[in-house]
Amino acid sequence: KLYNEVQDLKGNIRVYCRIRPFLPGQSEKQTTIQYIGENGELVVLNPSKPGKETHRLFKFNKLFGPATTQEEVFRDTQPLIRSVLDGYNVCIFAYGQTGSGKTYTMTGPNVTSVVDWGVNYRALNDLFIISQKRHGSVAYEIGVQMVEIYNEQDVLELMNIGLMNRAVGATALNERSSRSHSILTVHVRGTDLETNAVLRGCLHLVDLAGSERVDRSEATGDRLREAQHINKSLSALGDVIFALAQKSLHVPYRNSKLTQVLQSSLGGQAKTLMFVQLNPDVESYSETISTLKFAERVS
Ligand code: ADP
Ligand code: MG
Repeated sequence: KLYNEVQDLKGNIRVYCRIRPFLPGQSEKQTTIQYIGENGELVVLNPSKPGKETHRLFKFNKLFGPATTQEEVFRDTQPLIRSVLDGYNVCIFAYGQTGSGKTYTMTGPNVTSVVDWGVNYRALNDLFIISQKRHGSVAYEIGVQMVEIYNEQDVLELMNIGLMNRAVGATALNERSSRSHSILTVHVRGTDLETNAVLRGCLHLVDLAGSERVDRSEATGDRLREAQHINKSLSALGDVIFALAQKSLHVPYRNSKLTQVLQSSLGGQAKTLMFVQLNPDVESYSETISTLKFAERVS
């Protein structure tokens, strides 16, 4: 195995936290995030109880503060991604409320600016380069597919493109709704040119629908139905990862479309990485706490 790094990863489930910076015009004083420790520790202050010791502490495998670059995030993601070329199945999720930076982490703000590229483009690029480098010993076929899951029923296939046609994918990736789950899937098939042995790996890069709770008194009709479907699928995902983390004999994959689609890449030898995205704003306090509760359960 060329990429031994992956064997250093403890267990099959990792949780990384990323705090997005304040955007231009937002005051840095209004943060609820008080302390970012070296060991993935985070203190969140309750804005309605100033001065009180009302905080929570969470531990992550990695904690990325607001100044973290896209390149730094990718550096800690790359070994998992490369392991797909060795035949591993990998799922990478971005979880958090709308506006917390999920799409920024997974896709980036601007396709044309390479330094801003998120995990998706960097992953495609990296897999392409590494597979070319190995072409003397392994012949790789790489396929890319993009699906969206909206309201649990329809799996909408947005594209099914070859890796060479990346410009098409780039456009489709940026036009996504925060009310649906977007899944970019990379299928890899490698043939060892000496032995003819075939290996298969699969990478799912998932920009989840926004996790925010919708006020029942305000949401009606389509909006309420959307919110219920999103809550159902995110809690089903939490249940699956929790069951896997507990090494439970029964893993409840059948409870949502999302977990059904990803079933073969969750559990077994598969590797899972969850990016937990946080908005530092005081106004996001209760969503931040509910996001961290989700993270604590799956980590
Ligand atoms: P989400 O997909 O969770 O709804 P976005 O990725 O769209 O959130 O991020 C919301 C806003 O914050 C966007 O304007 C985005 O460019 C900006 N943003 C998010 N994360 C970062 C970051 N790490 N650095 C700079 N800007 C960011
Ligand atoms: Mg988004």
